[in-house]
Amino acid sequence: MQLSASGRQPLASGSFALADLDPAALAQQFAHWGFKPSHAARVLRAFYSGDDLATASGRGLPQGLLEKLRAEFVSGAATLAARQVAGDGTAKLLLRLGDGRTVESVLMPDFRADRAAGCLSSQVGCAMGCDFCATTKTGFERNLTAGEIVEQFLALRREAQAVGRKLQTVVFMGMGEPLLNLDAVLTAVRRLADNTLGALGWRQITVSTVGIVPGMDALTATGLNLHLAVSLHAPDDATRARLLPMGKRFPIADILAAADRFQARRGRPVTIQYCLLAGVNDTAEHARQLADLLGPRRMHVNLLRYNPTGLSLRGLTYEPSPDATAEAFAAVLRARKLVTHFRRSRGPDIDAACGQLQRRISLMPKSIAKSRSSSS
Ligand code: SF4
Repeated sequence: MQLSASGRQPLASGSFALADLDPAALAQQFAHWGFKPSHAARVLRAFYSGDDLATASGRGLPQGLLEKLRAEFVSGAATLAARQVAGDGTAKLLLRLGDGRTVESVLMPDFRADRAAGCLSSQVGCAMGCDFCATTKTGFERNLTAGEIVEQFLALRREAQAVGRKLQTVVFMGMGEPLLNLDAVLTAVRRLADNTLGALGWRQITVSTVGIVPGMDALTATGLNLHLAVSLHAPDDATRARLLPMGKRFPIADILAAADRFQARRGRPVTIQYCLLAGVNDTAEHARQLADLLGPRRMHVNLLRYNPTGLSLRGLTYEPSPDATAEAFAAVLRARKLVTHFRRSRGPDIDAACGQLQRRISLMPKSIAKSRSSSS
């Protein structure tokens, strides 16, 4: 088959996943089979709008092409390994990939009754070692392919449709550091934003980073009109290095300078993510230092409520800041005219923090994990 000759890897079954292809590659394949290349756009449009190859009635495609497609391609290479739905409607999906590894994606209902936001992973596990994060406990396993990222998006879109909502925005804030898998992330977001495929607007896509400066500059250089969020979590390098080991490699000044360059190129504010941890980074002095850094830059601030994840890598137990402390922190920022929002804590009654569900399922005996998946 031509696709394998061009370096694409088949799945273990010998088939290829449609999510791995863009219209040009599929058109080339159709031409190789002796069918019109123009059918590729129709096939992929049907696939992104939810048609399953196994059951698709054809949409005017030649029968021979459909048979060839069914023989050589599968609609989805990832399968649902577990699903949890919280009381607030947040749904966490654990997808099993072709090689048996698992990855998390989350659907978060919007305050508008018919909309939802999705949180996508970019890697299996993560090497960043953020001390308060459950993903870091499993370590880095591998980068996701663009197709695997697309499959998360399609799974979340189906999940949203099932509850009468439209998947309106996505953010790369799940497992992994997206800027360390930039090629696959960019290939995937181009498909998600393509009007004939995912049909999400560029502005509906956010890439979130712990502050990988070369990756931020590479993203700026693409000129893509997506949104950038930076997880800062501390206003000084010493506090940040305790929470995020990457802080030792990229000082806050360098990260914010890279954010300045992105903001100048895109003309839209970068969002600074700041997870409030009781007694760690949530004092009035921390808030004043943060305001000093961000005030002149006019960046936006998202204050995050911490979802406890148990003992950290350094053996610490983090707690969310009390409400009054969090409100006082926000008041300092707002007094300095910084646009400041609280991001609601999602799904506190499920394993909603990133990496929690994957870790819990991976620690379960296989028989229990299987029955949990089929009953959820
Ligand atoms: S918070 Fe994000 S970057 Fe940090 S370890 Fe977790 S997944 Fe990786």
